[in-house]
Amino acid sequence: MSAQRTVALVGRPNVGKSRLFNRLAGRRIAIVHDQPGVTRDVNATEVIDRSGPFMLLDTGGIGLEDANTPKQLIEAAEQQVFVAVETSDVICFVVDAKEGLTSLDEIIGERLRRSGKQIVLVINKVDDVRMENRTPDFARLGFGPGTSVSAEHGYNEDSLRFAIGTKLPPYEAPEKSESAGLHRTRICFLGRPNVGKSSICNALLQSKRLVVSEIPGTTRDSIEIDLDYKQDDGRVLPFRLVDTAGMRRKQNVASPVEFFSGVRSEQAIEKADVVFVVIDAMDGVTRQEQALLGKALSMAPCVAILVNKWDYAEDAMNEGRLEKYKNIREYRDAFEKSVRELLFFLPDSPILFVSAKTGWFVENILQVASSLNERMNAKLPTPAINRLLQKMFERRAPARKEGKRFKAYYSLQTGNRPITIRIFCNSVEKMDDNYRRYLEHGFIEKFNLQGCTMKFVLVGKPPRTSQT
Ligand code: GDP
Repeated sequence: MSAQRTVALVGRPNVGKSRLFNRLAGRRIAIVHDQPGVTRDVNATEVIDRSGPFMLLDTGGIGLEDANTPKQLIEAAEQQVFVAVETSDVICFVVDAKEGLTSLDEIIGERLRRSGKQIVLVINKVDDVRMENRTPDFARLGFGPGTSVSAEHGYNEDSLRFAIGTKLPPYEAPEKSESAGLHRTRICFLGRPNVGKSSICNALLQSKRLVVSEIPGTTRDSIEIDLDYKQDDGRVLPFRLVDTAGMRRKQNVASPVEFFSGVRSEQAIEKADVVFVVIDAMDGVTRQEQALLGKALSMAPCVAILVNKWDYAEDAMNEGRLEKYKNIREYRDAFEKSVRELLFFLPDSPILFVSAKTGWFVENILQVASSLNERMNAKLPTPAINRLLQKMFERRAPARKEGKRFKAYYSLQTGNRPITIRIFCNSVEKMDDNYRRYLEHGFIEKFNLQGCTMKFVLVGKPPRTSQT
């Protein structure tokens, strides 16, 4: 995903950060904490500026709820600087012309200088030109003369926007959705020997809707094939089948263990956008599938399940061997339920039922792969991420570290394959598998990411230095 340009406001309490936030955001009323989609710690909003859009953060709320003493105020300011430095391209360091330079300003200034970030010194509460001449002190902070503004009255707003714009990296318009361009959805089939992987490939390759081409240059051991699938509406869905060599030539595998530890399957998982784990309808989920799925999930951005040989189930139903079930649909629902129970660690992946032998629903594999591929392009809005995480942390707090209360300041999406969420917090907790799954399910449900694997990266504030 293209990086979002981000600007943070930092400064001690009461210098007017909230006013400035609203001014830059183009809002009139400063009821900052009532905005939907923002946490109390960090206010975030998208600003459409002449230099292009950027995300504006006001970190001023961080750490303040327990801050009464000067020491606590310094600690809060440090946390604010930490989040600003970690998340932003440009930091607006806001000071107060009416109060002049304070020691807390100097402490913040020192931290910001060491960060090596682009800093814009904003001297606020300069309500007219005459006051500008009375603010030379701030140059001592080492960020040049600064830009004098009045957040309240709008004085010099344009100069400030200009100063921010020149320090931000140039805006790059996001590329059109990858799937709309040339990106081929790379798919592979994984599974035990004899579940029907080769048969599924062959059934697919016979489809009249497909234009198939082998990719020159791929070795005999790993043949890749491009498939262009023509839909009814004329739209062409482009795919690449990765690692089909062993599937088209009947592979000779000594034992399942050899198959699973084989480098080939790992390479296939690494190359794929969507991994289909194939299960034999007769055998159901075995321990081998569980092991294979664990591996697929740790490496692939998206995983779905294929239950193959469903014609056997149909036959069994027709021959009255499944009398417990009213009809095949009921049997399929029960089958799916048991697959989900055994594979409880799946990211709510789709489960498809197919028959390579009859071709039944085989083409559906491509439709599903295509929609999963699009799902992975999701750009999750930052305020919605923060709102969701805040709710989830409230409902169930992460494990405590040394009795300290976990606190997430600000979160944002930083990647797509897998969908990666960076969480800035007061201390790095080791997130156990259960908690990670809890968050994953929350995101999947909220943003319709069924099948997509998710990665949560916690970024904690480093231990305090002894200089304060
Ligand atoms: P692979 O080792 O996973 O590639 O499995 P194969 O594609 O070689 O299939 C193993 C066996 O299962 C072969 O005898 C296939 O004919 C059979 N088979 C594959 N798919 C189906 C299916 O959908 N229905 C039935 N009845 N048999 C199938």
